Amino acid sequence: MSSKRAIRRRSCSRKIRHDTEAAAREHIGQLHKRRGWQGYMNAYRCSFCGGWHVGHGGRP
Ligand SMILES: [Zn+2]
Repeated sequence: MSSKRAIRRRSCSRKIRHDTEAAAREHIGQLHKRRGWQGYMNAYRCSFCGGWHVGHGGRP
């Protein structure tokens, strides 16, 4: 049980957390502006911390 929680926490804490979806999307926009196209990225709600993270590729 506790090991499952540890895996979730690790994948979450390594990411930048945004308070809102808008903030996460703005972060994506800035990445594309500064470094060029980074591939498809999306913002998703994190069920662990309740914040928003930016993910690469995958689901819209
Ligand atoms: Zn999180």
